[in-house]
Amino acid sequence: MNCQIGVIAGDGIGPEIVAEARKVLNAAGEKFGHTFCYTDILMGGCSIDATGVPLTDEAIAAAKASDAVLMGSIGGNTSTSPWYRLSPELRPEAGLLKLRKSLNLFANLRPAYLYEELKEACPLREDIIRDGFDLMIMRELTGGLYFGERKTEQVDGVTTAVDTLTYNENEIRRIAKRGFEIAAKRRKKVTSVDKANVLDSSRLWRKIVEETARDYPDVSYEHMLVDNCAMQLVKDPKQFDVILTENMFGDILSDEASMVTGSIGMLSSASLNDTKFGLYEPSGGSAPDIAGKGIANPIATILSAAMMLRYTFDLDIEADAIEHAVKQVLKEGYRTIDIMPREEEKRKSVTQVGTSQMGDLIAERITDERQS
Ligand code: NAD
Repeated sequence: MNCQIGVIAGDGIGPEIVAEARKVLNAAGEKFGHTFCYTDILMGGCSIDATGVPLTDEAIAAAKASDAVLMGSIGGNTSTSPWYRLSPELRPEAGLLKLRKSLNLFANLRPAYLYEELKEACPLREDIIRDGFDLMIMRELTGGLYFGERKTEQVDGVTTAVDTLTYNENEIRRIAKRGFEIAAKRRKKVTSVDKANVLDSSRLWRKIVEETARDYPDVSYEHMLVDNCAMQLVKDPKQFDVILTENMFGDILSDEASMVTGSIGMLSSASLNDTKFGLYEPSGGSAPDIAGKGIANPIATILSAAMMLRYTFDLDIEADAIEHAVKQVLKEGYRTIDIMPREEEKRKSVTQVGTSQMGDLIAERITDERQS
């Protein structure tokens, strides 16, 4: 297969972690007979320095011409970088918002996977974790409360603020469809999360999810109220496969789910539209505090590249190979600094490596098939 990948390395640790993801993709390409062609795209602070704006029309066109975009991270130190003295629409993050809008990326996917080897970073009890968990939060990204009408006004002399939560059936149907498609590639279970006991928008959400479910007879589904879901995530995360939910609930639940997995350097993500196109990026930012030191964890970006193979290119075996290689390297005891054990005694049993060494090890495990 010939895959056209737009690459936004971005700022801070972005170029360092993206280089490792490319290394790993190339190893997978070589092993499985695929060609990955990369087009570098400027976005964020580096684009401001080069062009005066965080995202040019040419950059949007290059992203649209790609099958998928792999991104590192954008932005700088928000207190000291000159980028943050610019007006909001010219700051690095404005580029990302514009790109998401231009590509109509309405579905955000965030996996929460607990690696056996990193269990000690999980704040949950051993009897809850058991042999780990593997769930995916699918959050609607372009509708709901964050995009509804809002105002603050005086009502009878009292300052009053109003936000509006709106969803139409088409917005719900397209994300529900994506949720069931993703579940069909996993353990075939959707938990649709809403607040249907109170909100009209949630009742419509529930109705449309039920209609959509009829097209996916192999995927089971259930409804859960959001307050219960927040509890269940820490009580029994193993019960979940795909959690499908609206924008604000997803914002909160995805952070809760990622916290129970440990380091930010392990968390991948994808933003999808209604074609096969996706923007794949680690959940963390540009980490200016460690940029240029060669110590950033590249695994979240490497796992984002695996998601890209799975969801844009339907290369499931290749994605599995990358995920297995990551597991294998962790099992062999290699760690970047952010995932080193806290206890001195346990530190002796692992090997600390830098960004590029971690990338090399994962690429090697793909090539030499020493996978469990
Ligand atoms: P951050 O995620 O960059 O950093 C938070 C902490 O996590 C830091 O201590 C950092 O060193 C650590 N960290 C992050 N990624 C890591 C990795 N791969 N390996 C090891 N440690 C890692 O968040 P922040 O400091 O709040 O933001 C810094 C900049 O990043 C800001 O300009 C912010 O706007 C931007 N940002 C960008 C994105 C994006 O590109 N999608 C997302 C979040 C923040």
